[in-house]
Amino acid sequence: MSIKYVSTRDRNNRVNASEAILQGLASDGGLYVPESIPQFDFNFRELSDMSYQQIAYEVMKLYLDDFTEEELKGCILRAYDIKFDDPLICPLHKADGAFYIELFHGRTIAFKDMALSILPHLMTTAATKNNDSHEIVILTATSGDTGKAALEGFADIPGTRIIVFYPRDGVSEIQERQMVTQKGDNTFVVGIRGNFDQAQTGVKKMFNDQMLAGELESSNFRFSSANSINIGRLVPQIVYYVASYARLLGSGAVSDGEKVNIVVPTGNFGNILAAYYAKLSGLPVAKLICASNENKVLFDFFETGIYDRNREFVLTSSPSMDILISSNLERLIYRLAGEDDASNRRFMESLVSEGRYEITEAMREKLFDFYGGYATEEETASTIKRIFESDDYILDTHTAVAAAVYDRYRRETGDKAVSMIASTASPYKFTRSVMRAIGADDAQKTDMELTDRLHEISRVDIPPAIEEIRNAPIRHDTVCEVDQMPDVVKKFLGI
Ligand SMILES: *Cc1c(COP(=O)(O)O)cnc(C)c1O
Repeated sequence: MSIKYVSTRDRNNRVNASEAILQGLASDGGLYVPESIPQFDFNFRELSDMSYQQIAYEVMKLYLDDFTEEELKGCILRAYDIKFDDPLICPLHKADGAFYIELFHGRTIAFKDMALSILPHLMTTAATKNNDSHEIVILTATSGDTGKAALEGFADIPGTRIIVFYPRDGVSEIQERQMVTQKGDNTFVVGIRGNFDQAQTGVKKMFNDQMLAGELESSNFRFSSANSINIGRLVPQIVYYVASYARLLGSGAVSDGEKVNIVVPTGNFGNILAAYYAKLSGLPVAKLICASNENKVLFDFFETGIYDRNREFVLTSSPSMDILISSNLERLIYRLAGEDDASNRRFMESLVSEGRYEITEAMREKLFDFYGGYATEEETASTIKRIFESDDYILDTHTAVAAAVYDRYRRETGDKAVSMIASTASPYKFTRSVMRAIGADDAQKTDMELTDRLHEISRVDIPPAIEEIRNAPIRHDTVCEVDQMPDVVKKFLGI
């Protein structure tokens, strides 16, 4: 029996996995979710001596069941290869009483590589399967990391083009440099005068713009999304939780069936949602600990049942989590609402019109899987310093938000369960903030000079991704207002 994906806003909108990947967002504005959650049909001990690629196949075949074995294995092997600087793809590191899943060994040294290195292959395979001859145009809004990871993933992949919008004042110097130096004839990077939410809203508008869709169609283009709403991103993210658990089993850190906590530094709610799906599919997970920075919309939601984006947007040292609308939360809301598309639609409409919604008491009761926490800027910085001093291990700012929240959780609850923390970026991606946290910042130094200093202090090799941009020429210098986004797209496509 094959798995269907249904839209969270219209259950009658049912498609296969490959179609859901091609479409990204459903045409009704909803997100595709599996109609029934596939259950893991392996025992985790079996996985403990498999390679990451083998585990990826075991997990992904259950979710993407209209791909043939050959298709899926082809995608996996092309994605998880020497682009990653560690053969384990995501090694575990024990520090401060938790296991850090290092998700930053890919091309752009952040966790989004885990999914974005495979998404282009899943998409082009899906297009071939569905006899779709359109050129795929990836449209993405980024708070920094997605953009670069998507650009790296799609650069020079035949049959695709990619256009990335980023908030000019909302990304780090290194993040911006990484993007504007991007190679590939099919890539286009645009800075917007606005914040990430405005960029994301602008992209969503283009996806829903029927006029624009018609213009694309007549030139044989079709939009798709590389944002974390695409199930082609969500599913590959389930893999590393399973693989990490299997490794803990293999090393004896947990015993068969032992439940672990998973702590995730959260922005758009994609990474933690993958952990939630892993749990629903049968991974022994106790609490899912959702860590926010000072943009603590999700923390407040878990506390009160009210999602309210009407608040000051704060620029923090963990910019990839500076988000007021966590798109993937819709998938959780839909589930909490008993998979009731009409009621989910009402919440989402209220989010658009009022900027808020309040879930029912019955829905709140189903939230026991989650624990929400947040860390202030000071707590984040002091956590980096503390763990560096105690364990000689340097966290990036995003991971430090998770570590700080986990620390508070542990003290508040006394819970001693084994915990895995998603380590979402290399400290080299946010060098200045990290150096400031450990008291080694120097305002006179450039980010690159600080990078060298961080290398001396940490003795961790500087990733090739950073070395490469040192002298790379700038290839993208387009800047626009939010309302000019569609014009910029049309210009790039020549329509
Ligand atoms: C994107 C990102 C996050 C947030 O992940 P979501 O899936 O959006 O919740 C956290 N840390 C880093 C470094 C990221 O790039």
